[in-house]
Amino acid sequence: MDIQTSVVAHDPGSLVIGVDVGGTKIAAGVVDALGQVYGRVQFSTDTSRPEATLRTVAHAVRSAIQAAGVSPAHIRGVGLGIPGKVDVENGVSVFAVNLGWRDVPIKRQLEADLAVPCRVENDVNAAALGEYLYGVGRGTANLVYLILGTGIAARVMISGQLYRGTNGLAGEIGHAIFVADGPPCRCGAQGCLEALAAGPALARSARDAVASGSPSSLQEVLNRGSELTAEHVCQAASQGDGLAMRIITEAGEHIAHAIYLLSLSFDPQVVVLGGGLAQVEILMDAVQARVARKAEQSPIFRDIYHAQLVRLTGLKQDAGILGAAALVASPETI
Ligand SMILES: [Zn+2]
Repeated sequence: MDIQTSVVAHDPGSLVIGVDVGGTKIAAGVVDALGQVYGRVQFSTDTSRPEATLRTVAHAVRSAIQAAGVSPAHIRGVGLGIPGKVDVENGVSVFAVNLGWRDVPIKRQLEADLAVPCRVENDVNAAALGEYLYGVGRGTANLVYLILGTGIAARVMISGQLYRGTNGLAGEIGHAIFVADGPPCRCGAQGCLEALAAGPALARSARDAVASGSPSSLQEVLNRGSELTAEHVCQAASQGDGLAMRIITEAGEHIAHAIYLLSLSFDPQVVVLGGGLAQVEILMDAVQARVARKAEQSPIFRDIYHAQLVRLTGLKQDAGILGAAALVASPETI
């Protein structure tokens, strides 16, 4: 397919730009109504000052337009997904720890620079909207998005609208205590889902078990003087390491329990799993098997459960760009 030709065939104002602003990289792309991404670009994040980061964002937007071979007249708006707390109405980053931001008026500064409407949203909220508009959640009115990575959080779409809750904390199930007096969590509590099943928790469980003498191929990683990561644990589990498999199975059980609770709370058509851990096949198999088992055990959940209830994101490397693009492509969902 001649990509350039297919983009130019769009009407003026029919395309949007999604920008995924992270602590290490800024990725941008031009997105059409079907969720096709053109002109992907990526730059390192300059976090020295907010103005420097925003300059990189503006540069990424212009570069994506150029790389896609479209004119600025094609662009209806720019959506930005950023970490941390966002004042969506005013387009202000209230705080973003990874970026070192506090009260940064992103919308005002970028609109002055780019002369195109900009919308800003928390990156996990944006990812949920991306699944709803472009991903496996397309065409579903009620959707739960569960991100599984260095942190765990859910986002809920009800009747095609993002549900935020009274304090903007709807879906923070990663900080629900699943095990009393369990491992410490970065939120200050103990035994949160995130402290049991997110990436750093898998690494910590493995380190503790190996340190206390459990036999495992992961000992080699520590012998090399390397930092033991969640990737090591997932890889060892997929190669049949007993300890790593036990850690993955336990994490799978906790994640399945979260899906079960979210499903009973919101009765969604689909629960979409995203984030780095959603790419780990052995963990996702464990999650699917345990969710199916809960349907056997729980008569009410059986009425909600179906074989396609829990689905993995299909957006993968474009998830951040598409989530941000959804902010301007479908503003009525926010
Ligand atoms: Zn917590």
